[in-house]
Amino acid sequence: MSEPILRVRNLKKYYKSGSMFGKKETVRAVDGVSFELNHGETLAIVGESGCGKSTAVKALIRIVEPTDGEILLEGEDFRTLSGAKLQAARRNIKMIFQDPYSSLNPRMTVRDIIAEPIDIDHAWKTRQEREEIVLNTMQEVGLDPSYADRYPHEFSGGQRQRIGIARAIIQRPKVVICDEPVSALDVSIQAKIINLLREIQRKQDISYIFISHDLGVVEHIANRILVMYLGHVVEEGRTEDIFAHPAHPYTRLLLNSIPKIGKPTDDESVLLEGDLPSPANPPHGCVFHTRCPYAEARCSQDAPGMKTIDGIHRCACFLDTSADISHADLAMNS
Ligand code: SF4
Repeated sequence: MSEPILRVRNLKKYYKSGSMFGKKETVRAVDGVSFELNHGETLAIVGESGCGKSTAVKALIRIVEPTDGEILLEGEDFRTLSGAKLQAARRNIKMIFQDPYSSLNPRMTVRDIIAEPIDIDHAWKTRQEREEIVLNTMQEVGLDPSYADRYPHEFSGGQRQRIGIARAIIQRPKVVICDEPVSALDVSIQAKIINLLREIQRKQDISYIFISHDLGVVEHIANRILVMYLGHVVEEGRTEDIFAHPAHPYTRLLLNSIPKIGKPTDDESVLLEGDLPSPANPPHGCVFHTRCPYAEARCSQDAPGMKTIDGIHRCACFLDTSADISHADLAMNS
């Protein structure tokens, strides 16, 4: 297999925040996240709202500066780049945002919104060349080129997300980060946008990092899944392995929360209970122990490291998840 296009090692993002007593607290939003992204694959990062997944990718793309860690994009340390080198590297790593409307300037035409990245980079020689690039990109994302003079408010939610996708892919990036790209859309539109992303990936060999709280959506697009909880990765593996044999108790509870036909949705015993602890005051030991139905005494004292279950399937839990967690729980997922 070729070298991964992206390697992230021990990525951290800490914030300082004020507390009730005026003392500064350290919020550990992302606390030592590592992963690799291969050419042409889709890696999903999943977890509840507040688990650190969006902050992790913002730190990765340096929308917020990471506190620590290594980000190697095609072997080059993205974290240490500045000036023209950073601008050049940013051509290869783009982002699609959750809310297509708020991420589009309402006073700009669709033509100018989509062209913005190539305008900033002076990546065209004539107005005609610019026009061809923009109109071709509109066609690639299923937008009628005759709409180029319209403004964002004249489009539906799905069409606005297509505009956001066009702007992200116009420079043929190698990595696109999709931050909850369909969660603001109707279910019928979600499927169309997912299919569009897959088609673009097939044609352009783009690698996606797909952020989502919705495992039902992730199942249809991801090759691999990274499960995050309170700033940490607690499980990773191929999509089919995570769905067929979820190892971490948190992953199992997340999967149980997906509504399924014929499965009672009001059975509290199989759903995730309690609130996510504050990242300013994370639990000692295993970060999940305050909500884990299988927690033992050692779980509140020591933090489990990542251990290999099978091939690339890894999990951070003390239990031998194939033996220690009852098979009745597994049956609830099926
Ligand atoms: Fe639960 Fe303990 Fe495993 Fe953490 S280490 S997930 S608390 S059983």
